[in-house]
Amino acid sequence: MLVTAPIRDRSSAVYAQQRATANAGFTDAELQQFAALNPIDTHTHIYNYGPLYVAMLEKLHLHTIDIVDVDDRGLPARRNLAKENEIVFDLVHKSSGHVFACTSFDPYRFNDPDFAKNAIRTLNASFAEGAIAVKEWKNVGMEVKNAKGAYILPDDPAFEPIYRDIAAHHRTLITHIADLNAAWMPPDPKDADQSYYREHPEWFMYNFPGAPSKQQILDARNHILAANPNLKMVGAHFGSMETDFNQLAATLDKYPNFAVDVASRLDFLERLPTEEAIALVTEYQDRLIYGTDNTIYPGGNMERSVEDEEAGYARDWRYLATDKVSSSRGREVQGLALPESILRKFYHDNAVRWFPELK
Ligand SMILES: [Zn+2]
Repeated sequence: MLVTAPIRDRSSAVYAQQRATANAGFTDAELQQFAALNPIDTHTHIYNYGPLYVAMLEKLHLHTIDIVDVDDRGLPARRNLAKENEIVFDLVHKSSGHVFACTSFDPYRFNDPDFAKNAIRTLNASFAEGAIAVKEWKNVGMEVKNAKGAYILPDDPAFEPIYRDIAAHHRTLITHIADLNAAWMPPDPKDADQSYYREHPEWFMYNFPGAPSKQQILDARNHILAANPNLKMVGAHFGSMETDFNQLAATLDKYPNFAVDVASRLDFLERLPTEEAIALVTEYQDRLIYGTDNTIYPGGNMERSVEDEEAGYARDWRYLATDKVSSSRGREVQGLALPESILRKFYHDNAVRWFPELK
């Protein structure tokens, strides 16, 4: 029986508490099945690591993509592209082949002369160092403005040479473009999806009347897909269509060069009736990619972080692979018990297909 409970609160304090009370790690049998798939987590942000982190990847037979975001309002570790690249490649080199790099370009340089030319030069240097993908983040569409003071959109012609360069190098563009619908909705203290914006009012677009609508940003993303059919794009967080799976389906149907990861949005799948969730994953079994958005910032307790990460992987596995009712993000969910053929695509095959350099 499906027991409904409040959905996960996205504020970091409550989330940390829910993580602490989440299920324990894998049982031996679960770990064996999980590890046998050679799973890949295509969406992580790891700024703090060490032998414990790498040992966990080894134990889980897990490969990851570690992603750079340039965020001028974020923690110091995220403000500088060169510094972030350095951190990501350092982890790559210390990971015994378990971690792959996804670099980025610095959109805050948009108004510099030769923006695209300089971005491409930096990207190509990162490709030569082994980066397999490029991240474009929500600050394009929701923060950065052009010289006239207007918000820039992802399909701005200034970005086009960058997209062509990524495609020419057979790298993949990961887009976290737009955000949860809650960012554009009137404030509602009861809306758990808005808890993140209560902590981060700088992303609460409702308060920025001149800002593009969510649909405008998604349309701009779709223009990139149409204009660059050879560019492989993975839309992070269900392509920001987590509250409208019909729109997600239509977008996947229309653009064969588009796939999505489920990072930090699996709870939206969990909100669907079990049969609907199974039907969606079955129908789009070649286009959905596993990712978590796991983030480890400097300064925390490494042992605890690694335990939390492993518990998170076990929790997702129980939901996707078993028929158990388990506790996930503050609610009870019925496991989907997906067949092994689909789990293999979701956890491994699709990632390898959408990130051709992931070998
Ligand atoms: Zn992320």
